[in-house]
Amino acid sequence: MSKRAEAEELASSVPSVPYVAGTWDTAKAAGTFDVIDPVTERVLATVTEADAADVDLAVSAGHSALDGGEWGRMDGAARGVLLGRLADLLDSRAEDFANLESLEVGKPGIEPRVIDLPQAVQTFRHYAGWADKIEGRTIPTPGYMGRKTLSYTVRRPIGVVAAITPWNSPTMIGSWKIAPALAAGCAVVLKPAEDAPLTSLLLARLIHEAGFPPGAFSVLPGRGATTGNLLIEHPGVDKISFTGSPETGRVVATAAVKGFRPTTLELGGKSPQIVFADADLDAAADGVALGIFANQGQVCAAGSRILVARSVYGEFVDRLVARAEAAVLGDPFDQGTTMGALINAKQLERVARYIRIGRDEGARLVAGGGRPDRSGYFIEPTLFADASNDMTIAREEIFGPVGTIIAFDTDDDAVALANDSDFALAATLWTSDLTRAHSVAQRVQAGAVAVNGWSPLDPRLPWGGSKLSGHGRELGRAGIEANTEEKTVTVVL
Ligand code: NAD
Repeated sequence: MSKRAEAEELASSVPSVPYVAGTWDTAKAAGTFDVIDPVTERVLATVTEADAADVDLAVSAGHSALDGGEWGRMDGAARGVLLGRLADLLDSRAEDFANLESLEVGKPGIEPRVIDLPQAVQTFRHYAGWADKIEGRTIPTPGYMGRKTLSYTVRRPIGVVAAITPWNSPTMIGSWKIAPALAAGCAVVLKPAEDAPLTSLLLARLIHEAGFPPGAFSVLPGRGATTGNLLIEHPGVDKISFTGSPETGRVVATAAVKGFRPTTLELGGKSPQIVFADADLDAAADGVALGIFANQGQVCAAGSRILVARSVYGEFVDRLVARAEAAVLGDPFDQGTTMGALINAKQLERVARYIRIGRDEGARLVAGGGRPDRSGYFIEPTLFADASNDMTIAREEIFGPVGTIIAFDTDDDAVALANDSDFALAATLWTSDLTRAHSVAQRVQAGAVAVNGWSPLDPRLPWGGSKLSGHGRELGRAGIEANTEEKTVTVVL
């Protein structure tokens, strides 16, 4: 059987109903939605949408698990054992997850194998280690009304966390939310994106198998405007962790504010990749191409603004164009495919519209711009040169394989261009000058700066942005802090 056929069989065998309070909710005849393969445009699975009753049950099961339930009574070391078991299970099924993610997202097979699955497994392992190390502080205090005092803090789980994820990297981004919340002792209600919910449903199976008590984790497949909206409006949700577009982020933030609930918002980006004249231009061209074309550019950290020193501008653009032209578009399951399809017809139309806008605004199209003559939501890797930072294609997130190349003269110019953006998520610097690398890294507005390598991820490193890119941090210690509340205790002695 071919890998594609195997993956299609797996897609049809994944439970296609909500997982709530430790059971698969097969009882109700709720609405359904189809998951479409972006390459063949065929239906991969028909999934039952979680309704208001499911949302209610998942949130109240979370509270029951926490408040006197088995999950709430479990100590950190025991939670760590479960998370470690989950990491091992995911590792052992990594091939299945990689195939399923390629199938539902349309990304070339190598990407989930070198990025998404290793990152997800490492994230569960990382937080398995955190679970028994969540500590408070002892704070010296001067006393109270003439008596001595002892003051300390404890970190308590924040409660029931609603985790809402996008479709572009569902397994990895899901792990960024689920692992720290479970390590902290929270209950998690996950609402995966309707375009790619299958890996999350498969993950629920592993979470069940790992032995997490009922209610500690639920998955509610469904559309944003229905299931997602019910979840963010539910008064029992204590925190919302959201990754997605700034538009939806605003809806989530508004719902959260109404209930005074904390949020972590990981939104989009228009991240600069700055190529200085002293960079190794071949390595930079490889890295910049990866930064804008990986996952067909559907990456929050996509380096979509390519700022190039004027003295090396022409030779760098030639190198980058050669990388774009070498891309092989095709079925993610075909050997040799380096670029897959966009997620859906709407995204294809959105990217095509931005390409039209780039042309109309007078940027010079130097690569791509068209669509291959085949089924699926494919679009060519596209580069616009001689652009300016005020063009729409330099200001708005396209979320597709479209790079906008802009020349700069001095380091100050590069920093000013980089920071002249509504977004501030990531930045990549390409230079062989250590002083320049460190000083520009300090000045550029971004939650994460990488030097000489695009977006190196690690669960130990905090991740998140500011401005339209959102607020709060995930991963590392920040992931634990975001899922706990610090409680102060003062004893008057
Ligand atoms: P989206 O905002 O459309 O959807 C994200 C999630 O929100 C989905 O699960 C969706 O069903 C849900 N949703 C939609 N409307 C909702 C509502 N009214 N209430 C509650 N939930 C709702 O985004 P997308 O199209 O899935 O993903 C693309 C966007 O995500 C891009 O802007 C991208 O930059 C961003 N993104 C950011 C990061 C990051 O870490 N910063 C990572 C990946 C993607």
